Amino acid sequence: MIVTMSLYSRSFNYPILNFCFQVLNNGFILQVMKAMIKFLPTLCSILLYNGFLAGQTYYLTGIVKDKFTNDPLDSAVVKIFIKNIPSKTDSIYTNGFGNWSYTLTNVGSESNLTPEDFSLSQNYPNPFNPSTKISFSLTSSDYVKFFVHDALGQEIESFEQFLSGGNYTIDWYGAGAAGIYFYSIEFRGNRLTKKMIQLDGSKRGGFGKPYLSGSQIPFSKSYGNSINLDLIFSSFGYDNDTLSISVSTNQNIITQLVSLHHRAFVIDLHNDVLEKVVYGYELGILNNNNHSDVPRFIKGGVDAQMFALWPSPSSYPTTAFQHTMAMIDSFQRQLNKYPSKLKQAKNSKEIDSLSGTDRVVGVIAVEGGHAIENSVDKLKEFYNRGVRYMTLTWNNSTSWATAAADGQALTKGLSDFGRQVIKSMDSLGIIIDISHVGKKTIEDVLEVTTNPIIASHSGVRALRNHYRNLYDEQIVAIANSGGVIGVVFYPSFLSTSSTVRIDTVIKHIDYIKNLVGIDHVALGSDFDGIEKVVVGLEDVSKFPDLTMALLKKGYSFEDVKKILGGNFLRVFKQVCK
Ligand SMILES: [Zn+2]
Repeated sequence: MIVTMSLYSRSFNYPILNFCFQVLNNGFILQVMKAMIKFLPTLCSILLYNGFLAGQTYYLTGIVKDKFTNDPLDSAVVKIFIKNIPSKTDSIYTNGFGNWSYTLTNVGSESNLTPEDFSLSQNYPNPFNPSTKISFSLTSSDYVKFFVHDALGQEIESFEQFLSGGNYTIDWYGAGAAGIYFYSIEFRGNRLTKKMIQLDGSKRGGFGKPYLSGSQIPFSKSYGNSINLDLIFSSFGYDNDTLSISVSTNQNIITQLVSLHHRAFVIDLHNDVLEKVVYGYELGILNNNNHSDVPRFIKGGVDAQMFALWPSPSSYPTTAFQHTMAMIDSFQRQLNKYPSKLKQAKNSKEIDSLSGTDRVVGVIAVEGGHAIENSVDKLKEFYNRGVRYMTLTWNNSTSWATAAADGQALTKGLSDFGRQVIKSMDSLGIIIDISHVGKKTIEDVLEVTTNPIIASHSGVRALRNHYRNLYDEQIVAIANSGGVIGVVFYPSFLSTSSTVRIDTVIKHIDYIKNLVGIDHVALGSDFDGIEKVVVGLEDVSKFPDLTMALLKKGYSFEDVKKILGGNFLRVFKQVCK
């Protein structure tokens, strides 16, 4: 925008001076374009602006959120690098609402508020030097126009020359009377003007030739028209995010950070929700009861879930197989009903290809060997429907395997048929799960199987003496087989305390890690198979909180990734080809 301003004399009714200003979008006055004398030069008392006006303030505000939950992040760090000034760095923190704010003031003297591609220095008269030396800088090559005007806006001299980028000096040897003059250079449509005082009116040299006074292309020290920033957002347990922006107005910046938990592949080894699905519970919608559904799996960053099929031996004493098939059918109906939200995988390739940010991959498993009703053919039928692990017993023993809850757990192991079942599981590619299984049976299993075995949902017996938990020698045996222990979230298995928190779950994880190494730890929540929950792990959406607690405990992200899924995936790839 060009603004014209006129100066009137009290004695005359026409303007004696006209000024033209170029006003930039942000309100800065770029330069005086022209000042024309009409009359009475001695009346002129002119305030001339050149360059940018300092003091412009911009407000940067923002909110940092978790990308998946959209929850605001408290105490996230926002690091600010002002690129116009390489040394200028600031760090600020978000508040409890995830908000941050930063005030940028376009401070500095007039001389460092110039356009970025060239600059012009202020020179002061030197009574001992006959010339005025004018310094200017160009960041690239182009035509440069030089001007000198007198105080009344009349052009004294001008010329144009092509110059390459660099620091230059040009001499002004004077022209006209002693007094105030203005020198300007024009580069790519922008003009910079400075005031100079000519002490001696006798000189008549005008401009000399511009010469390089430095070989280096100058850095722009100015903020210029806009302030260039790099913003680096970080928060504990999250990936960093970097944003490069150019600020010329107030800005509000929404940042969504991806948590390390959501970057990791998460597979939980044991969930009993299908025993509710068979009675009509919907997996694809957000429910306000139970522990599991797709929206909560997604919030919890669960990529894949092992769904246990448990035919209650008291409810289905003679129809365990039939009821297990009914649960598989109900799962299939959910797959058909929510094809974009829920997928079934039968091998590790399918787990890899089907898992995404907006869906959950389900792998089915049988909990309780009574479901096969003493038939290897029924075991094969389960395999064909996608069953990829079988817990050899639930709390009830079968004729071929003894449960941990059984009084004969320490002495009675596998029958001959039981050994046949183990061999069939190995050859089909069904993982052997020994949670719930008696000590002697586990020992017999390890003599027969050639595959790694798992405990899908158990705890450490040394920490909590419960028949559902594993002795040290069993943990060692599982590790030696190459298998994993899915640490259960059921409070009664973890502690005798009435209230059990995440740190108790981590105690069991720590114990296994210290005994046999990080490669044998996994998670087996038992959600929807438990009537009480750990405080902080109330449903499947809470897995990220366990990750955060592990990271805070000092677990590396590499180790956390193994616990969350890497270890079990290794076993799954090996057994379920
Ligand atoms: Zn169970």
